[in-house]
Amino acid sequence: MIQKDIVIGAGIGGLCTAVALQQAGIQVTVYEQAEAIGQVGAGLTLWSNALRVLRRLNLADAVIQAGARIEEAHIRASSGRILSRSHPGQLAQQLGEPTIAIHRAELHRILLAALSPEVVHLGAACTGFNQNGQQVTVAFADGRSDQADCLIGADGLNSVIRQQIRPQINLRYAGYTAWRGVVATAQNITLGQTSESWGRGARFGIVPLDEQHIYWFATANVPAGQRQNPAEQKITLLHRFKDWHDPIPHLLESTPAEAILHHDLYDVPPFTGWSEGRAILLGDAAHPTTPNMGQGACMAIESAFTLASCLKQHDDLAEAWRTYEAKRQPRTAAITQQSWQIGRVGQWQNRLATSLRDGLMAAAPDSLLQKRLLQTTSFTV
Ligand SMILES: Cc1cc2nc3c(=O)[nH]c(=O)nc-3n(C[C@H](O)[C@H](O)[C@H](O)COP(=O)(O)OP(=O)(O)OC[C@H]3O[C@@H](n4cnc5c(N)ncnc54)[C@H](O)[C@@H]3O)c2cc1C
Repeated sequence: MIQKDIVIGAGIGGLCTAVALQQAGIQVTVYEQAEAIGQVGAGLTLWSNALRVLRRLNLADAVIQAGARIEEAHIRASSGRILSRSHPGQLAQQLGEPTIAIHRAELHRILLAALSPEVVHLGAACTGFNQNGQQVTVAFADGRSDQADCLIGADGLNSVIRQQIRPQINLRYAGYTAWRGVVATAQNITLGQTSESWGRGARFGIVPLDEQHIYWFATANVPAGQRQNPAEQKITLLHRFKDWHDPIPHLLESTPAEAILHHDLYDVPPFTGWSEGRAILLGDAAHPTTPNMGQGACMAIESAFTLASCLKQHDDLAEAWRTYEAKRQPRTAAITQQSWQIGRVGQWQNRLATSLRDGLMAAAPDSLLQKRLLQTTSFTV
């Protein structure tokens, strides 16, 4: 029987895993390299599938209360013309749980509050692990170490644990970069309605978080690694989106330059073999995906619950790992591939191709998109 687990990484995946393990009666310690928890300045969409898992962790009500329900989602042209509509609100009726937009810091606060205070250790950067038949020993940059029955690498896209388990795996650059911000706005916000506008080689998303705050994201086709100082970056963004529909220029203008986050977007083509001996991967460490379906964190939440259930059900660790990967790999692989394809089409740059794309989207019945959404979100762990 597994008695003690170490989780590396206190992101959404690591914290959810810790909550699920704690509820399964398994002792858990989380080590996080950062000195403080929670990425500031960005929002997150949590679909019904994630809320269903959070319900089982007794966290759904807190998340729903801290977030904003999404009832309707639009894909628009850069002019603002609506190309397609979907209705996440209907999913709530079909699946019993809503789709929620939430500030990341709020989600982290809720997850942390569900854990005993001694569980999470900050300022602990893991450098790798050793193992034998009985124990795994984890090493940290400051010379510390700790031992447990098993190790869960929830250390994100650039996972140190993945590099040790599967050193041959490389990240795949999506070909486009993303900026994000949360802005306080005096403009009237239609709560419950989100939009993602598709242009030529660029997209812009608008997600209301509450009556005063909007989370926005923007993407553009650029080579990886390009960086500007905050003021230059804001000027570039304002220029890039200056002719886009309202309130896009206003949102960019109202966001303080220093508050704009910038990340190049990567995933890893789906792979198998998530474990080695007593160590296993979870969340972006195992199945990183481009954010085009808003499912990366939702997948981490699903995986966290499944992993804790497998550890509870199977005394044999190898059996627990096998069952977990068999349940999670096909599901996450499908999302990763689908998201990659959506991103490719969304980032098309050619004038003819994009007008064809927009025409096809406008002609397609909304029910088709709704059906796909239901398929993605109706999954049960
Ligand atoms: C632009 C963008 C928008 C997105 N939008 C959505 C969305 O709307 N909905 C959604 O579901 N998903 C979304 N995602 C995806 C989502 O953010 C990730 O899938 C999710 O955060 C993964 O959680 P994680 O815990 O696996 O990894 P992370 O959130 O990356 O957490 C990993 C943690 O491990 C820590 N760590 C790393 N290395 C070490 C180490 N060596 N030692 C100790 N600690 C370490 C890190 O500091 C971090 O705290 C988006 C992603 C991007 C980039």
